[in-house]
Amino acid sequence: MTDEGPAIGDDEPAESTFRLDEVLSPNVGRSLRKLPNLVAMALRITWRAARREFVVSAALQVTAGVAVAGQLLAGRQVLEHVVRGQVAGGFADTLPALAAFALLTAVVAFSSLASIEQQRLLTELTARFAMGQVLTVAGTVDLVSYDNPAFHDRLRRAQVNAQVRPAQMTSGVFGLLTSGFAILGIGGALLVIQPQFVVVVMLGYIPAWVITKRASRVGYQFALEQTERDRRRDYLAVVLTGKDEAKEMRAFGLSRYLRGRYEHLYDQRIVDMRTLVRRRLTLGLIGGLITSALTAGTVAVLVWFVVTGRTPVSAAGAAAGGVLLLGQRLQSVAASAGLLYESSLFLEDFASFLDLQPAIEAARPKGTPPPAFQRLVVEDVWFQYPAATSPALRGVSLEIGAGEVVALVGENGSGKTTLAKVLAGLYAPRQGRVTWDGVDVAECDPDRVRDAVAVVFQDFIRYHLTARENVVMGRPDRAADSDHFTTATARAQADTFLRRLPNGYDTQLGPHFFGGTDLSIGQWQRVALARAYFRDAPFLILDEPTSALDPRAEYELFNNIRELFAGRAVLLISHRFSSVRSADRVYVLHEGEVVESGSHEGLMARKGLYAELFTLQAASYLEAGG
Ligand code: ADP
Repeated sequence: MTDEGPAIGDDEPAESTFRLDEVLSPNVGRSLRKLPNLVAMALRITWRAARREFVVSAALQVTAGVAVAGQLLAGRQVLEHVVRGQVAGGFADTLPALAAFALLTAVVAFSSLASIEQQRLLTELTARFAMGQVLTVAGTVDLVSYDNPAFHDRLRRAQVNAQVRPAQMTSGVFGLLTSGFAILGIGGALLVIQPQFVVVVMLGYIPAWVITKRASRVGYQFALEQTERDRRRDYLAVVLTGKDEAKEMRAFGLSRYLRGRYEHLYDQRIVDMRTLVRRRLTLGLIGGLITSALTAGTVAVLVWFVVTGRTPVSAAGAAAGGVLLLGQRLQSVAASAGLLYESSLFLEDFASFLDLQPAIEAARPKGTPPPAFQRLVVEDVWFQYPAATSPALRGVSLEIGAGEVVALVGENGSGKTTLAKVLAGLYAPRQGRVTWDGVDVAECDPDRVRDAVAVVFQDFIRYHLTARENVVMGRPDRAADSDHFTTATARAQADTFLRRLPNGYDTQLGPHFFGGTDLSIGQWQRVALARAYFRDAPFLILDEPTSALDPRAEYELFNNIRELFAGRAVLLISHRFSSVRSADRVYVLHEGEVVESGSHEGLMARKGLYAELFTLQAASYLEAGG
């Protein structure tokens, strides 16, 4: 049994969702302890994504930090000259210090500017890299994850966070280092001049830090709470702007109704946002008041020292400058640390999403399925969707041999598509097994299993790419095989109309992009069939493959199905009973169970569900004909 599998739980159906549930629940509390790891992760991401920009940016920041310290020293020297000016030297003596001061000011200004520009690139490159990782995870998680809203919440946040957080965290680290470095310099100088002030100024920033941290947390909590609502709003925006939806929007006059829903969701967000802004402003105000009170107090004490003659004017002047600079730096430390803390919260969420990947890899079975099976056996298969309260498949058993056409029929919702997805290796059964020549598919690498299967889903995708790409994507590594391409399009009867397009097979399909041509739904279905032929797999699953085809195309497909797929195992799902008559075996599904099976004749003789549905359909055709 494959209790190793990521989407398989043994007893509780609800657990079939994930063993990955732990990584799916973000835990804010641990963030602070994890900060060093997260910082390391952010730096690693930045390093891998944008090494050069990282080094240049770091060098510029360090340069700026050193230059600021130099500025203070040069400034003090100028000041000393000013104070001593009347007694000795004269203006000429101050020139070197003044020149150094001017040069250092220019260095600070330029390195800060250059660093900002470098960070622009850095942000873009890290965002691309982080987004690439999100796409990798999204491409490898089991299909069942997509049935789970929690997964969609996480995916959305990961996408949003990938855009900014790693770069934000890196710049937070840089900012912290630069300011820290400058504080050491300024603080050191001040300690010599007026030690007591250093302590007071530093103490003044503790409340600023505590408050920044609190504000970050509030912001993070807000983002967490909004995710589901934001997704709903995004969904409505897609419906309101999508091409496929546009006709119903107009025909049913839905735009106003859905727009109302959209605005309502936005109103709720804005209300929450106002609360957030109020809370953050209040926090900022309190912090600002405490800090400025302390700064004002420090300056007042300084003035008092000068007035009462305890401190000479030059020392007080330097100290005042130092206190001011230190204050600025401490403020940027608080800002950088706040940024770091805030991005760490988001980055932890992001990191736990990326953790899905190793979990999937570790849980992935390593076995090799037979390249082409002679016999596929389904034994007592149960499956339940994560959000469902009852199983969609209940103890299904069936067999398909190579060279056979096996049909699956049943009413809507009886489980046909679900079974097709299980057989295609897209869903893992909760119980029971699927074997290929005796090899349990659940113990095989799912990529290899899927490699041997070609599926045409009833809701196949219309790719807005060229006609050729739409077909060769069935097996991209054979894209250059033109004979194979010709055969596939001809078998699907897609060759004639595709060749007639403005640029033939190289015509862009779909109206999304310039030069694009849309097809009729039936023509799209033939393209989807051509893709399946091109895949050339030993096991073929056709889920309502002719729903949009005209009667002639449908007749030809079913009539030639054996010839078209000679030697392959074919599972055919159809609600058109006439088309399944010639199947080797028909399985009738009802509420997730196989209730009847056999040949058409045998099933008719049984006078069960199949006979009833067949007769109903035949009668409706006759009535329509008569
Ligand atoms: P059929 O193909 O026979 O019409 P399906 O296999 O699509 O039926 O669906 C079988 C049952 O599973 C139905 O009750 C349907 O509502 C339910 N179902 C299908 N897809 C999902 C899903 N992603 N999440 C939850 N329930 C689903």
